[in-house]
Amino acid sequence: MLEDKDQERTSLEKLGEFGLIEHLTASFSNQHASTVKGIGDDAAVLDFEKKKTVITTDLLIEGVHFDLSYMPLKHLGYKAVMVNLSDIYAMNATARQITVSIAASNRFPLEALEELYAGIQMATTTYGVDLIGGDTTSSQKGLLISITAIGEASEEQLTYRDGAKPNDLLVVTGDLAAAYMGLQVLEREKEVFKVNPNNQPDLEPYSYIIERQLKPEARKDIVELLEKLGVKPTAMIDISDGLSSEILHLCKNSKVGCNLFEDKIPLDPTVIAACEEFKMDSTMVALSGGEDYELLFTIDQKDFDKIKDNPNLTVIGHMTDASEGANLITRANTKIPLTAQGWNSFDVSE
Ligand code: ADP
Ligand code: MG
Repeated sequence: MLEDKDQERTSLEKLGEFGLIEHLTASFSNQHASTVKGIGDDAAVLDFEKKKTVITTDLLIEGVHFDLSYMPLKHLGYKAVMVNLSDIYAMNATARQITVSIAASNRFPLEALEELYAGIQMATTTYGVDLIGGDTTSSQKGLLISITAIGEASEEQLTYRDGAKPNDLLVVTGDLAAAYMGLQVLEREKEVFKVNPNNQPDLEPYSYIIERQLKPEARKDIVELLEKLGVKPTAMIDISDGLSSEILHLCKNSKVGCNLFEDKIPLDPTVIAACEEFKMDSTMVALSGGEDYELLFTIDQKDFDKIKDNPNLTVIGHMTDASEGANLITRANTKIPLTAQGWNSFDVSE
């Protein structure tokens, strides 16, 4: 995982807004020809020539989307970029640039923002995107981060949510439910820490699920893999809110139904162990947990042979006529309608 530096404190006022922007962005450099003008003018200028431009934005608010008591700022910066890149990849596009806007209260010294930007930089380097601008301001309370990601794709490459057809196969990348279980562990340790700050928890058995919560990876590799395999998904979405709600989006937009097979949902063994420990149903967590940042897509059956041996890809169901609705076929072979919350008995509200 990424490590935090020891905290010194330099107040933001000392640098002033321009000094701060310059300081935070000094070590970033651009690598794409499509970045005609990056940071340093009134607006950035991009040129994608004959490609389509793909653009997406997310706003993250302290206390709503992240909790700094267990989320190191470097991880937050990294994750904030991942959340956006994931949306670009879900269009079957290539991410090229980001803008980053931040509002911080006077609780945050320069060193805190340096950590945030170290995480952002690690993400831009690893994923090959240029930081081309943003905005910097103060907030009355807490930290806000808004990131916009920009990508490119040819018209033929672009994959929307509305292209799935009956009999298409439903495919998911990686494995599910780990980020949510990682969050359960972190929340539990936070409570333990409140009671006994000297307690040194052994988090080693949870390292995979904690990493999935604190340092998710957007599936750039899958867009590249699909291209290499010669598979164009008929529809695609990223899994940010749980498998169930994403399946329902695909079904609604594509005007199809779906059968999802419970026994096919990919789960890491450590997720199954954590679910047992927390007395949670792993299927429910996969359906409703969220923050997996995997890709969910449909393919024509004729492409099955191209994907069937790939360990990153799991066929979890198939699309049906809209009149059949979206259903979970359980291990006991009963058919249960999917709802945005998994199914009705599961309450994820706070
Ligand atoms: P303006 O007054 O036109 O809004 P700013 O002084 O806010 O300009 O920004 C100057 C330059 O720095 C612009 O290119 C802007 O996109 C960039 N910038 C501002 N804040 C950030 C930030 N937090 N991260 C990256 N770039 C930033
Ligand atoms: Mg500005």
